Amino acid sequence: MIIAVDGPSGSGKSSTARGVADRLGLRFLDTGATYRAVTWSAIQHGLDLDDTAAVAQRARELRLELSTDPLHQYVIADGTDITAAIREPGISERVSKIATNLDVRAELIRRQRAIIDDAQPSGGIVVEGRDIATVVATDAELKVLLTADQEARMARRGAELAVGSITAEQLRDQIVRRDADDSTVSEFQVASDGAVTIDSTFMTLEEVVETISRLATE
Ligand code: C5P
Repeated sequence: MIIAVDGPSGSGKSSTARGVADRLGLRFLDTGATYRAVTWSAIQHGLDLDDTAAVAQRARELRLELSTDPLHQYVIADGTDITAAIREPGISERVSKIATNLDVRAELIRRQRAIIDDAQPSGGIVVEGRDIATVVATDAELKVLLTADQEARMARRGAELAVGSITAEQLRDQIVRRDADDSTVSEFQVASDGAVTIDSTFMTLEEVVETISRLATE
């Protein structure tokens, strides 16, 4: 069983996908964390992020360990625990540049598919990202496109960030810019065949988890 949950930043897809995995006893994969990990590593190595060949090489060489336990998420890159570091604004601001590097995408999609395959014997996996239904797992049994209006997405992202670390205007700029940058990748957030669109603007997390879990077990 594969459940694909795609959606933009702040749509609530991460908490939702984790909640569904926990409820249904499935594994969980946050594909955005793989792009964030490569961004972190490229910066650590002092690479010019515009040097697409060097960044792609880094993506291929990176030793990456991602937890698929929905209740205990961690990311380890070349032996360093970067679970918190990849959520820093400096990573969020640069990750779209890394995500538009096609060689990086090819490498990370290959790794994501291996994790998805590994999870099948234990019952399956909920995979969260932008291109899961359209590229990574086109054979997913359930495809969900999660949306929310920009104000709701800002409020949710704001609640996730440390108080005082960023102003409301900076947050708005960041979301608007990342939406614009991400919109250059054509496979993102387009409703694929058979995808169910859920607008979570006026729904609680619990309601969205319940709706998806019901669809998955119908
Ligand atoms: O979901 P999250 O905000 O952590 O994703 C970080 C970035 O990684 C996105 O803004 C996007 O540029 C990239 N991404 C991607 N493909 C995915 C998931 C995320 O390109 N499947």
